[in-house]
Amino acid sequence: MVRIEIYVNGRLLPRSILVPPPEEPPACCHCGGQSKKFITRSTNRNGNAGRPYYKCTCCSKFLAFADDRGNDPNNPRCDCGVSSKRQLASREKGRKIHYVCRLGKCNFYDVQLSAIDGSVATVEGDELASALAMLSIF
Ligand SMILES: [Zn+2]
Ligand SMILES: [Zn+2]
Repeated sequence: MVRIEIYVNGRLLPRSILVPPPEEPPACCHCGGQSKKFITRSTNRNGNAGRPYYKCTCCSKFLAFADDRGNDPNNPRCDCGVSSKRQLASREKGRKIHYVCRLGKCNFYDVQLSAIDGSVATVEGDELASALAMLSIF
């Protein structure tokens, strides 16, 4: 049996209690327009295949993923005052662990710093990245 323990900021990550995504499409924080739920393509190579997300129907900007992945209640608060969503940037963008608004209502962005040396925390390797995605860590 393999036991996986994940630490963020020196704290053991519980993977049980994730907070839910927004139930209603949020108003766009860029133009105020109405958003709508879409599904990412099954060919998406960033571990995000087939994920629901909200996108503005007016300005077409991506607002937020509409699922509970990465919605750890201990995440930093966004500008809306609620816990943010943990995400992993694509390989092209260096796979930085970062936090965004889980409601799709503000432009919050923060990076996870390594507990070891204070640099921006990243995930090395495709296999680890997809294993963590399957655990809804991201
Ligand atoms: Zn918009
Ligand atoms: Zn927010």
